[in-house]
Amino acid sequence: MENSPVRYAAEMKEGSTESPGKSRIGLCLDCHHVRRIESAKGSTFYRCAVSESDPKFAKYPRLPVLVCSGFKPKA
Ligand code: SF4
Repeated sequence: MENSPVRYAAEMKEGSTESPGKSRIGLCLDCHHVRRIESAKGSTFYRCAVSESDPKFAKYPRLPVLVCSGFKPKA
């Protein structure tokens, strides 16, 4: 994974002041490239649109994403 453009959390910190969504999802939560998908069973998935043009990016990144070279803030 050394050359991967995406990095994940090795562990979650207790007592974090971040919102639960931010600590669980990471950068994808606020990224222009994310596509939020809700299943019929009520599950939520976060698909990375960059993966459509760049195979180095996972279609469904393992969350939370902490560092990502493709991150672009939502407008
Ligand atoms: S570019 Fe990175 S931060 Fe943005 S949706 Fe894809 S994996 Fe998440």
